[in-house]
Amino acid sequence: MEHPENSESYKGLVVNAGIEQPSSVNPHLSRPKKRNLSVDDYVEGIVKGDTTILSRAVTLVESTRPEHEIIAQQVIEKCLPYSHNSIRIGISGVPGAGKSTSIDVFGLHVLEKYGGKLAVLAIDPSSERTKGSILGDKTRMEKLAVHPNSFIRPSPSAGSLGGVARKTRETIILCEAAGFDKIFVETVGVGQSETAVHSMVDFFLFIQLAGTGDELQGIKRGIMEMADGIVINKADGDNVERARLAAAQFRSALHFFPPSESGWTPQVLTYSGFYGLGIKEVWDMVYDYIAFVKANGYFQRNRREQSKYQMYESINESLRNSFYQNPTIEAMLADEERKVLKGKHTSFVAAQNLLVKYFGTIK
Ligand code: GDP
Repeated sequence: MEHPENSESYKGLVVNAGIEQPSSVNPHLSRPKKRNLSVDDYVEGIVKGDTTILSRAVTLVESTRPEHEIIAQQVIEKCLPYSHNSIRIGISGVPGAGKSTSIDVFGLHVLEKYGGKLAVLAIDPSSERTKGSILGDKTRMEKLAVHPNSFIRPSPSAGSLGGVARKTRETIILCEAAGFDKIFVETVGVGQSETAVHSMVDFFLFIQLAGTGDELQGIKRGIMEMADGIVINKADGDNVERARLAAAQFRSALHFFPPSESGWTPQVLTYSGFYGLGIKEVWDMVYDYIAFVKANGYFQRNRREQSKYQMYESINESLRNSFYQNPTIEAMLADEERKVLKGKHTSFVAAQNLLVKYFGTIK
């Protein structure tokens, strides 16, 4: 039977036309469209020290879009002759060690004492998973964030650690070309990312805490081989004694390690970022180191070695991306993985199958 609502005469469902609504877009709001900049515009702006243009260039560097990458590479290439006049300091510590508190205070100290300009960058391996960065956030460094001679940039969040590290290295070049002669690269103390930061800085500072068992962990994780300075934070109140004890433990542990290539003996100091105690001593140590390695030639030699290392890292990164993003490989990968898990193929055979297939696709 025909439903009454379908009848021509049934008007119950007729929707009356309402009154016309205004546009949801405010017609008075005319946000100026960002002008597209040419490579030369970027370079000119960066070299002049324009931080807005610098920020935009860093965004290009961080972009995964191929057209952005092309411009970014040209900008970096042209900025290269203007960079290098800097000191680069890696700062690492587990979450809660006091990195942000310390960097805020350290940054103000070096700007006040040595002048110049400071850029704070970050490598945050957790951002790969969470797509959000916990490091380098401006709100964590309140005083430094409003300092006219500072530039704070959170960790790039896309891609593998290798990719993120490359972007940070490129950002260092841009910052240096923009006149930032002090670069801090912050990282969370969790293994791999420290190695990446170590490969791009002149001095590696490890922030440790007393009485957390970190003394031993630090030794285990190979921190001692990388550290040029170990600083025990929160040496304030009734923690002073424990901090001193931790420092003594680190110092004695250092005796078991072979002398570093730089000829420098890593120093262990205590300080309090929160109360601003011992900050000068930490930075006197860093500057003593820089003078020492500049005098013995290690500074320049290390930077050249780092460039070479970075070249190989870039090659590895590109090869890896090319392999895993290859459509044929993408289609085969899950199946080969299943075969390995079921014991049908050994891992070597599976890898070989994939590689042979991959090399067959490139001409
Ligand atoms: P991050 O996670 O390494 O960046 O550490 P934060 O800088 O956020 O510090 C973690 C906590 O430790 C915060 O509650 C700080 O206030 C506190 N803190 C940082 N430095 C000191 C210090 O020198 N002394 C004391 N007592 N607390 C500190």
